[in-house]
Amino acid sequence: MERRVRVRFAPSPTGPLHIGGVRTALYNYLFAKKHGGDCLLRIEDTDQNRFVPGAEDYILESLSWVGIRFDEGPHVGGPHAPYRQSERKPMYREYAEQLLASGHAYYAFDTPEELEAMRERLKAGSMPAQYDAVSRMSMNNSLTLPADEVQRRLENGDPYVVRIKLPRKEEVRFHDAIRGWVVVNTSQMDDKVLFKSDGMPTYHLANVVDDYLMQISHVIRGEEWLPSAPLHVMLYRYFGWEDVMPVFAHLPLLLKPEGNGKLSKRDGDRLGFPVFPLEWKDPASAEVSSGYRETGYSPEAVVNMLALLGWHPSFNRELFTMEELIEAFSLEKVSKSGAKFDLDKALWFNHHYLMERDPVAIAEELLPIAQSAGFDPDLTYLSAVVSLMREKVNFPKEIIRDGSYFFRDPEVYDQGALAKKWKPETPEFMRKLADTYAQADELTPANAETMFKEQCEAAGQSAGQWMQLLRLAVSGAAAGPPVYEMIALLGQEKSVQRLRVAAEKMKP
Ligand code: GLU
Repeated sequence: MERRVRVRFAPSPTGPLHIGGVRTALYNYLFAKKHGGDCLLRIEDTDQNRFVPGAEDYILESLSWVGIRFDEGPHVGGPHAPYRQSERKPMYREYAEQLLASGHAYYAFDTPEELEAMRERLKAGSMPAQYDAVSRMSMNNSLTLPADEVQRRLENGDPYVVRIKLPRKEEVRFHDAIRGWVVVNTSQMDDKVLFKSDGMPTYHLANVVDDYLMQISHVIRGEEWLPSAPLHVMLYRYFGWEDVMPVFAHLPLLLKPEGNGKLSKRDGDRLGFPVFPLEWKDPASAEVSSGYRETGYSPEAVVNMLALLGWHPSFNRELFTMEELIEAFSLEKVSKSGAKFDLDKALWFNHHYLMERDPVAIAEELLPIAQSAGFDPDLTYLSAVVSLMREKVNFPKEIIRDGSYFFRDPEVYDQGALAKKWKPETPEFMRKLADTYAQADELTPANAETMFKEQCEAAGQSAGQWMQLLRLAVSGAAAGPPVYEMIALLGQEKSVQRLRVAAEKMKP
């Protein structure tokens, strides 16, 4: 029988979720939905030292903003609750004990100083600095100490850890859905700590036990976890769970735009794009990092952009809604090599979705921004400005910034453009056009154009010679939306008045 597809996104709440983490969550979601399966959220918070207040809420809000809906998780519950590892703490001990009893794990009592000395010793001898089948025999653990001494230390409450007991030289192999066969020799591996005397499991134990208990069928996660996978495979073997071991799929890294190394917050600051989905204020330093949402990206654009960073759909198609992504997604088309972040592409996607959206919805979003800039447009007018202006911008707020003349009269005229175009007869031309416009029954784009062109012709000049002066007179700016539409939207009264003011004040 085919196994039900169940995947999980398992972030640790140690800070704001990196945009690469959003991509991991997205690929999990797409894969689950494509196969009619379940997508779980599990919070991996066993490392209390790295806990950051607000991080879990941030993760939830980010994923909900991009439109990822979890079937199970700390916020929605589910048959395997709790979904926060700190709340599952009592469950893990029995699994550590199972491995101790079967001889696949042992107690170790080494102090940090002893561990450090061991590493130095191994490094000096050009040996791998790891706690392994060879080095463990000269350390303080239940493999080297007499049984009664181990017992005494445990009863005494001495601090200990439980380590996995790996064989000296054995090949561990598993098939990764993206990378193919991965083979690692245990001689390269560490006897990793699984459990500590404070009762807390480490990431490795908790992660594998929970994937097993939650019946996870596919582990889709970032490449940085690839080195942990052989250890996880050994845990499945030692627990006797190999027949239900999930399929592993390690996603390629998100790279800097130049392609050399992992995309970091510093790259974002340097090149002017966010590396976090939402704005984040660090609770300790109060430092604020920008977010895609606050910068003005739409969730549709972020999803589309992220989907293509590492996944290559057929026919080089680029535009996908979430529904279309679910339909088209497959792990086979995820590449092994890292995906370079591309700012121009991100802007292109955002522009595309800005053009797709309902202008009224954009206007509603912009109203507070317009108000804080000191403007007070009504929604109908603002929607019309949006429709006219969005062709020229990538972010909604640029409509207010670049189109301020829709909300207040120009105070200055672009001097560069004016110097090039101004003619001595400009004031007279503007006065005359104002009179003509004032006499019209109404001012539509079409008749604004006709009246203007007639006046140019009467003066024996081409419309091209006057067009930019007309734009400058009405808006003050050298560029903008189609000029007759702009005039019609400003309305007869405003346009006439601005032409009259320009006749007086517009000078190079
Ligand atoms: N807690 C790990 C993380 O923060 C999860 C890795 C995994 O998916 O196994 O990314």
